[in-house]
Amino acid sequence: MSSRLPVTPAKSHRDDPSESTASTNTFAAPAGLHASQPAVSEPAAEAANMPHHRPATQRRQFVVGIDLGGTSVKVGLLQDRQLIARCNFSTAECQHPKDVFRQAQAFASEHLSAHQANLDDVHAVGLAMAGVIDDATATLMETANLHDWHGIELLYALGEVFNKPVAVVNDANAAALGEFYYGDHRGDSLTLLTLGTGIGGGIILGGQPLNGNHGCGGEIGHITIDHRPQARMCGCGKPGHLEAYAGAAGIVQTASERLAATDQPSLLRELDQFSPENIWHAAQQNDAIALQTIEQTAIYLGRAIATLSQIADPAVVLLGGAVTFGGLDCPTGKRFLQWISDEMVQRSLVQSGTKVIIDFATLGNDAGMLGAAQHALQSARPVRPPTGP
Ligand SMILES: [Zn+2]
Repeated sequence: MSSRLPVTPAKSHRDDPSESTASTNTFAAPAGLHASQPAVSEPAAEAANMPHHRPATQRRQFVVGIDLGGTSVKVGLLQDRQLIARCNFSTAECQHPKDVFRQAQAFASEHLSAHQANLDDVHAVGLAMAGVIDDATATLMETANLHDWHGIELLYALGEVFNKPVAVVNDANAAALGEFYYGDHRGDSLTLLTLGTGIGGGIILGGQPLNGNHGCGGEIGHITIDHRPQARMCGCGKPGHLEAYAGAAGIVQTASERLAATDQPSLLRELDQFSPENIWHAAQQNDAIALQTIEQTAIYLGRAIATLSQIADPAVVLLGGAVTFGGLDCPTGKRFLQWISDEMVQRSLVQSGTKVIIDFATLGNDAGMLGAAQHALQSARPVRPPTGP
């Protein structure tokens, strides 16, 4: 798309030592990010996305992106859409979201001064947050492990700390936005599936996340793939959803069912309990049960992607998260990807099935942070705390 610009890719989780300990408070830009050598020319950035209320001669545009997860917070400072500094710290260090935002502000302030700038030069701040977020006020309605923060109006809290235009986005949509604007894959539309304990999903159409009327757009993990009465129950309480089959616990259940149904030898039998990672390791040693489990998981995913393709017809479908069986760096990961594509092609119209690009995501854990910053560029607005009656 003409609106997208090349940027220095953020380093992936795999090769960034600062990601290895969630409690590390690392305020330094990682090697490979060259703050003095912007990958995007300033005039190009201005033409592409400079907000209308800024003078055309404004030469710098700083944006802060915050990815607030259950265990760690990732913060990025971007200048003209290039990541120039990043940090991460433990969510447990913070009693309230405002503590998170103050740490992010201190980080931004420190690095802005190194660029002869200050917080006045920050155009907007974006927050990506896991959980169900009310559309109107960005109130946190539900999260997996930050229950004390339910009911907090994130938009106001963020605006109060930064006193800037702000925007809040669901973490799955943020990751999809990040991959769309900053990842390696190019296409006019994109879907990201995040494979892990659960299955997150984000659909980008026309450069914007598809939220739907009830905030449930892109919830691919809750597509029904099994309509039988004995279908597995999803964590959401409804039967037959993809997440119950291709989420981490679902994958383990598939392997357990196969082990119980046969006497076939398997490395998995030697373990009291096992995880998708154990299944991956066994598959790398050509363990038949492990390989069958991964193939079956791929078939489930291929069915869901085929359904999705007849609705949204994305140009690119990316798979991210912790459960990619080694990704492209590993023969097992490549086979996983091929099995998904084969199933998808079998079950969708030839026009979409043979043309959609299915691949692994490229930004790792930076996708949410970059997507939060992008969402701020697109949607941030000034907010005022609610006034009493
Ligand atoms: Zn569900």
